[in-house]
Amino acid sequence: MFEITKIKLDPKKCHNCGFCRTVSLCPSPKDCIGCFVCVWSCPYEARVPYKHRSDETVVIKIDGTQYEVPKWITLKRALEISGYEIGAFPGEGKVSAPCSLGGCYSCLVEADGRFVRACITPVKEGMEVFTNKESPALRIVHGPAPHSVGGKATPWWIKGDRYIEVAIWTAGCNLRCPQCQNYHVTYDNSTKPISPEKAAYVLTRARKIYRVDRMAVSGGEPTTNRKWLVKLFKELKKLNPDEKARLHLDSNGTLLTKDYIDELIEAGVTDIGVEPKGARLETFMRITGVKDKELASKYQRTQWEALKYLVDQYQEKVFIGVGLPYNRALIGWDELLEVGDKIASIKSDLQVVVLDYFPTFRNRSLVRPSPEEMLKVKEALNAVGLSTVIVQTSAGHFGP
Ligand code: SF4
Ligand code: SF4
Repeated sequence: MFEITKIKLDPKKCHNCGFCRTVSLCPSPKDCIGCFVCVWSCPYEARVPYKHRSDETVVIKIDGTQYEVPKWITLKRALEISGYEIGAFPGEGKVSAPCSLGGCYSCLVEADGRFVRACITPVKEGMEVFTNKESPALRIVHGPAPHSVGGKATPWWIKGDRYIEVAIWTAGCNLRCPQCQNYHVTYDNSTKPISPEKAAYVLTRARKIYRVDRMAVSGGEPTTNRKWLVKLFKELKKLNPDEKARLHLDSNGTLLTKDYIDELIEAGVTDIGVEPKGARLETFMRITGVKDKELASKYQRTQWEALKYLVDQYQEKVFIGVGLPYNRALIGWDELLEVGDKIASIKSDLQVVVLDYFPTFRNRSLVRPSPEEMLKVKEALNAVGLSTVIVQTSAGHFGP
């Protein structure tokens, strides 16, 4: 007998919104395999984990060795039980699964001759798995669409009323923000994935259609699938060799290790935005919904180190933008100033875009900050020494 986790529906909380039938689909509707996709993605938190005891097992083969594992689990869990390290950072571990939502395709392994997402694929009797076969680079992508504002690393002086950028949004994220500002993309595990070559082609075509020079990738969190993202920028560079082309990565920065940054810039990235979510760990955990303290601390450290590294190594080569989420229910005034100080100590004229977090997803009780409140935020950040602060408000953007 062993214990596995299964998930049940709490009918009292379910609003019948249909999200789990249309966007974030259950990979094993007949019998739960405890992938947690529905737990993380239900906007009304109507899915509840419970412990279940079972003695059903299956025998599977991984990289030529046989293992007996519980029957109703994911392939990712089976790999873990069999001693395989699962990386929370792209490229870490034997298999890396930073998103575990079925959106980013980082955890592809070969099972019975097909490449499958380990995080949401059920194990089955006799399954033969290879973790060391070269998997295709795939990713669920929304867009492209034109934009008149752009993201954190779109220079403030070009934000305006006309289209300035075309963007795609990648599904999957390593964070679990209760106020995810783009959750229909983040939790999409059902759209057909595409290759980086295809994504680069559609972005380049959109560039031509909308007559812009900037091409952006946002999310979800684009960095969760390193192979796909690096290839995307290489392809974009190949298709857009002119000097005017700008390749923009809009990231939360939590996975941007130094070697990853080097690789992306080598691949062609010209503009990078990172988004430190608070100066204190408890704030980071509140904003991101990451409950594992150690992991949250590593993510937060990586964000700040990424920013410093970008400034130290690449400020002449790359346009750097900082995103700063703001809502007084999520971050106090003192800490906002602390974050401002911290950014100013790295570089006082960095572009800082303050994002007015609005109510959405699970945090429907948030109140969107008024334009007046956002202008006070701007003043306060200017006062701690930041000279290039832009605030996003319901009445438009206000720049330096
Ligand atoms: S996503 Fe949640 S609230 Fe919506 S239908 Fe599914 S269980 Fe119900
Ligand atoms: S989505 Fe995953 S955790 Fe939820 S019911 Fe389906 S198999 Fe179980």
